[in-house]
Amino acid sequence: MSNSAIHNLNVAKFGGTSVANFAAMENCARIIQNNPNTKVVVVSASAGVTNLLVDIAHTAMSKEQIKQKLIEIESIQHAILHALENIDEVAPKLQQLLDSLSDLALHEEIIHRADLKDALLSHGERMSSLLFTAVLNQTQLKAENFDVRNVLKTDSEFGQAVPDLQQIATASKQLMLPTLVDTVLVTQGFVGCDQQGNTTTLGRGGSDFTAALLAEGLGAQTCEIWTDVIGVYTTDPRITAAARPLPELSFEEAAEMATFGAKVLHPATMEPALRQDIKVFVGSSREPEKGGTWIVRDCKVEPSYRAITRRKEQVMVTVKTPKMMYAQGFLQKVFTIIAEHKLSVDLITTSEISVSFTLDNPANSVLERLNQETIEELAQFCDVLVEENYDLVTVVGNNMHSGAGVSSKIFAAVADYNLRMICYGANPHNLSLLVSDSDSKDVVCALHKSLFE
Ligand code: ADP
Ligand code: ASP
Ligand code: MG
Repeated sequence: MSNSAIHNLNVAKFGGTSVANFAAMENCARIIQNNPNTKVVVVSASAGVTNLLVDIAHTAMSKEQIKQKLIEIESIQHAILHALENIDEVAPKLQQLLDSLSDLALHEEIIHRADLKDALLSHGERMSSLLFTAVLNQTQLKAENFDVRNVLKTDSEFGQAVPDLQQIATASKQLMLPTLVDTVLVTQGFVGCDQQGNTTTLGRGGSDFTAALLAEGLGAQTCEIWTDVIGVYTTDPRITAAARPLPELSFEEAAEMATFGAKVLHPATMEPALRQDIKVFVGSSREPEKGGTWIVRDCKVEPSYRAITRRKEQVMVTVKTPKMMYAQGFLQKVFTIIAEHKLSVDLITTSEISVSFTLDNPANSVLERLNQETIEELAQFCDVLVEENYDLVTVVGNNMHSGAGVSSKIFAAVADYNLRMICYGANPHNLSLLVSDSDSKDVVCALHKSLFE
């Protein structure tokens, strides 16, 4: 077969809960069987496994504690293994992965070396993809486990590697397309490989991004994200039972929602979709018959308010210098330090003598968090105040900066709450509010009631 694109190719991604156990994997297998266009399958690690791996990689633990975590991981994977009809071929391969995982986990430098951490983290997806391939092969389908590191080339930014689109397109067309004619390839989300051959990862929740990148590289028409909810909702259904699934969303709206905390999609997922006009579907692998959300370039309607998102664990940093009026390089100095520490700033407000900004600081990130060193570097030329326990609540919609009354309805809905910082006008698709974490659920519910109920 030639290396040209396959007609109507679909890339399907199954998240952690969808591959949590054997029964969940069987649901996924049925979804794949029902769509002959699904030729590439991207899987996450089984639910809970990446969190256990992050614990091992980030927390100083005794050997006994590490071994305990390894036992937990092994029991999740063994439960799936032993539900298979025939384990002869898979069992030794799984054991190899468990052994190399154990070597890395017990490596003396594991919590100090980013390259070892990523190698360790990759084992979750490598094990789940091996097991899921075996589940598929128990059906009528012919499936092969494909090592994504052959195609998902990245830089060496361990923990948040940046994909090389050109290399991904060339390698995926060369190494994956020819096989797809009669085989379903099952591969790992979240995992990549740098130019030196080291294993990298794309950041927490990165399997969605992998699916979109492979869809782009392979020239797929659609990309399906199968998860534990029946689509993208007006807000996280865990926050309020009043949340309802959205039949349709635009690429921009979905990108905005993902950036501002809708965990259902990794923030970068929409980039490849937007570039190549790939339609993205989000649905539940447990209830595929309930349909889901289609994310497309142009929606039938563009409402002012589409959804509300929440991003937890935000910190607000205020740096103040009485000399700011005169010191033109002040902002540059502050943001150079932030950039050197690889921290990414979200909201910013300035006054004549101070600047406040917010940073994402999630505890389970594989990335650097705001640390003492950064604060000390800033403190050398200004006063630094760090405030924790904030969440960012964002209303996502369309033409929000120009529609009359769009913001007043939002502010009226949250009049009872203290808004520590507001970001409005920089983008037509959002209005963000920084609020205390103890208020954020109520703020989301109040907004939801006013805008959607
Ligand atoms: P997966 O493991 O399948 O990638 P995730 O846990 O990463 O699943 O994402 C699915 C979760 O995202 C849902 O269970 C839901 O709680 C959360 N979520 C947050 N915001 C939204 C939203 N607007 N719509 C749907 N789900 C959302
Ligand atoms: N397993 C990884 C995580 O838990 C990637 C993913 O699930 O998308 O973050
Ligand atoms: Mg996810």
